[in-house]
Amino acid sequence: MDTVTVSRRTLITSAAAAVGGALLEPALGGSIAEARLFRGVPADAIQLNANESPYGPSAAAREAMTRAQEIAGRYPGNLEEELAVTLASLHGVTPEQVVLGCGSGEILRMAAAAFLGPGRTLVAAEPTFEAVLRYAGVTAAEPIAVPLDAAFRHDLSRMAGACDARTGLVYVCNPNNPTGTIVTGEELSAFLRRVPPTATVVLDEAYFHFVEHPGYRSGFELLGRFPNLAVVRTFSKIYGLAGMRLGYAVGAPERIAALDRHRVINNANAAVLSAALATIGETGRVAQLKQRINDTRRTLVAALERDGRRVIPSEANFVMFETGRDVIPLIAAFRERKILVGRKFPSMPSWLRVSVGTPEETAAFLTALRDLLPPTTPGDPSVQS
Ligand code: PMP
Repeated sequence: MDTVTVSRRTLITSAAAAVGGALLEPALGGSIAEARLFRGVPADAIQLNANESPYGPSAAAREAMTRAQEIAGRYPGNLEEELAVTLASLHGVTPEQVVLGCGSGEILRMAAAAFLGPGRTLVAAEPTFEAVLRYAGVTAAEPIAVPLDAAFRHDLSRMAGACDARTGLVYVCNPNNPTGTIVTGEELSAFLRRVPPTATVVLDEAYFHFVEHPGYRSGFELLGRFPNLAVVRTFSKIYGLAGMRLGYAVGAPERIAALDRHRVINNANAAVLSAALATIGETGRVAQLKQRINDTRRTLVAALERDGRRVIPSEANFVMFETGRDVIPLIAAFRERKILVGRKFPSMPSWLRVSVGTPEETAAFLTALRDLLPPTTPGDPSVQS
């Protein structure tokens, strides 16, 4: 146990050193590209289909994962506890208010298992990240899908109106996947005041780190006022650890205990826990990544708009735009060119979601798009995208 403690302290120290480092690591590539796991996907494919970070984990996180080999023979209970304590202090709550997940996806599954079942309803937007709907189906709960409003934002008023005594779970994805739109802090608190306290509200903040909108507020600011709120975060996006699987939820102790009952014991492995502890304090790197990815997104959106395309304003590391046709053949055509985009969201069949990659990947995407779907207005050839 001592060894674990000592080596972890070393990892945290090296993480702290990395915060001051001015340079980000290079984008994923080389041997990492060769290690891609998708069957049938060429090793050199550009992957803009899963809202991952093209920059991957930090140097400190990579080092921590390598060093975790030394403790691979031990169950990760101590590390789980240490991360829960670290996250609790970061968010100003107690460790009993934190539950870890094998990705935030597992948290959504725990929420469905804990709060849904036959005769219960799940209220969610349409379209949104659909995992929770799938898990709700397993419990035989009734899904109530509330269409986004005309601006592709959650229609919180209608969602509140759809809640009643049968509602076990309400899912709010902020920013929303696939649209990248947000609801403001004010809208969120007005909504939470209307939801029955018997319904648990899961606020999915997977893309929190990319938001710049001044009206946005994290659910963490509202936890004290709404004991039925659980905020969900992930290490898969800005921290670049999607392949390693780690997420967490924070809420009132009683709701977190209800989630925890459905957690697989030791659901987080020693490598990702070590990486999370090494990277959670790297606020400088997170700020750099936010800037870099959002700048690339702005370049992408500007180019799409110059080409006459309708783009939904996004606060996340992906954008959705109108293609005027079913996106399935388009996704296949991109794939032929070794560029992965999409997927199709059935209620928005002609809108394509593309993740923000490196500037080079984004430029390659735009070149292919112009070829596959020529601009409807003349683009400015002098502008590099
Ligand atoms: N929530 C949202 C909104 C997502 O987009 C995703 C994955 N794309 C997840 C949760 C699940 O992510 P993970 O399980 O990797 O944390």
